[in-house]
Amino acid sequence: VDPDVLAKLRAIVGERHVLVDPDLTAGYSVDWTGRFRGSASAVVRPASTAEVAAIVRICAAGRSPLVVQGGNTGLVGGSVPMAGEIVVHLGRLDHLEPVDTVAAQVTVGAGVRLALLHEHARLAGLAFGVDLGARDSCTIGGMIATNAGGINVVRHGMMRQQVMGIEAVLGDGSVVSHLSGLPKDNTGYDLAGLLTGSEGTLGVITRARLRLVPRYDERVTAVLGFADVKAAVGASGHLRRRLADLDALELMLAPGIALVLGTDYASAPDALRAPAVLLVEVAAHLDPTDAFASVVERLDLAAVPLVAIGSEQRARLWAIREGHTEAIGRLGPPIKLDVSVPIAEIARFVAALPAVVPDGAGLVVFGHLGDGNLHVNVTGVLRSVANEGGGPPPVLPPDATVESIEHDVLTLVVAHGGSISAEHGIGIAKVRHLTMCRSAEEIAAFRAIKRALDPHLILNPSVLVAGT
Ligand SMILES: Cc1cc2nc3c(=O)[nH]c(=O)nc-3n(C[C@H](O)[C@H](O)[C@H](O)COP(=O)(O)OP(=O)(O)OC[C@H]3O[C@@H](n4cnc5c(N)ncnc54)[C@H](O)[C@@H]3O)c2cc1C
Repeated sequence: VDPDVLAKLRAIVGERHVLVDPDLTAGYSVDWTGRFRGSASAVVRPASTAEVAAIVRICAAGRSPLVVQGGNTGLVGGSVPMAGEIVVHLGRLDHLEPVDTVAAQVTVGAGVRLALLHEHARLAGLAFGVDLGARDSCTIGGMIATNAGGINVVRHGMMRQQVMGIEAVLGDGSVVSHLSGLPKDNTGYDLAGLLTGSEGTLGVITRARLRLVPRYDERVTAVLGFADVKAAVGASGHLRRRLADLDALELMLAPGIALVLGTDYASAPDALRAPAVLLVEVAAHLDPTDAFASVVERLDLAAVPLVAIGSEQRARLWAIREGHTEAIGRLGPPIKLDVSVPIAEIARFVAALPAVVPDGAGLVVFGHLGDGNLHVNVTGVLRSVANEGGGPPPVLPPDATVESIEHDVLTLVVAHGGSISAEHGIGIAKVRHLTMCRSAEEIAAFRAIKRALDPHLILNPSVLVAGT
């Protein structure tokens, strides 16, 4: 970085919050899976919207590209400085304002971690409607920027449905702030909606006004085993229609559960060893056990249901579902394809997948069945090389085999009427595939919006509409 730019950045945030030593910037330069590894020319850690605005103005004036980073748990490489960009890390924007219990809303800084927001809402007698496995690390800003989904979308929708207002710094350093949270406010373009899912390409989100939902303390959590995916999908329709308090509806398949449980798989209860397994949670103010039992007894199950008794057993069932990402990661960096297909197509799609995965590669599929969202993981294909300096081995850039697997899986998704990204976004990983599900006219409109809000094209230049 130009020493003059560095000096100005230090003047804004203080010496200690501008990192340039490669040992210190290394952790900000690689993604959670180890697949995307870049090198930050500097990491800047602002503590307020005004500091973010000043940083962006400096970068805009110097035409210095920057990458916005929250918890760095994104799974498509969007938070990684692949071309030596400056990383703007938002972890210090972690202020939680008091909960407005009348409106059931709260305003929080973009760097607030999801688990802390959950706790903050819980203490006020409410809850936040989005939850996901990365809750201890991912930030509200990153979740808005990716329009994150997670395990409760079936009941509360994605981040877009929770965002009532946003404060953000646009690419020229100007600040837009609309945090009144009015449920009815038809005064022009929906900037909050536009920034939601924009993956850091249109503005740096610094604060957000969020909707909260009722806190349900009575829960039933159960594992239901089915003979195949088709039977599980059929049952999911029944559960959605009959259970008004359905909170989560997750799909796991035998290879994924076996990977998570390891040697314990052989002795696991039958419901967990069925070919297709649903993890179902119902939450309400009054105990929903009877309502749940009367619906489940009509299902064609392959085994006796496994119902969690108490919070410890409940946590153990969820650990199996949430342990998938980590267990897959232990096999080496996977090719991760987060996709959605119409629910009615899921069984046919899953059945067709093995044909597009080469012999010798592993295939682990799981996901949020209630939303038609599957995480397709192909293992044993991405290659890494030894890291002589220690630390995790770097992953080699995708070769022809990787590219053809990605292309074939995503082609199958589109052929089944689906989307090539359900909840993780396009990031860097899927830039070259965007045309598979967006028309030339749509991409031209994306680019026009990008140029309008980020005139010098400095925000996350390798992401989503790269090459604008
Ligand atoms: C174990 C595990 C489980 C997961 N489960 C789910 C899941 O169920 N559902 C789901 O949707 N995702 C899931 N994810 C992916 C990830 O947690 C989400 O994408 C999350 O929203 C990323 O938040 P973050 O703060 O880590 O963002 P980062 O990874 O830091 O950034 C993600 C993107 O958002 C941009 N960004 C970050 N902060 C801001 C900001 N303040 N303003 C503008 N742009 C910003 C970045 O530039 C990048 O493009 C999972 C990840 C892991 C590791």
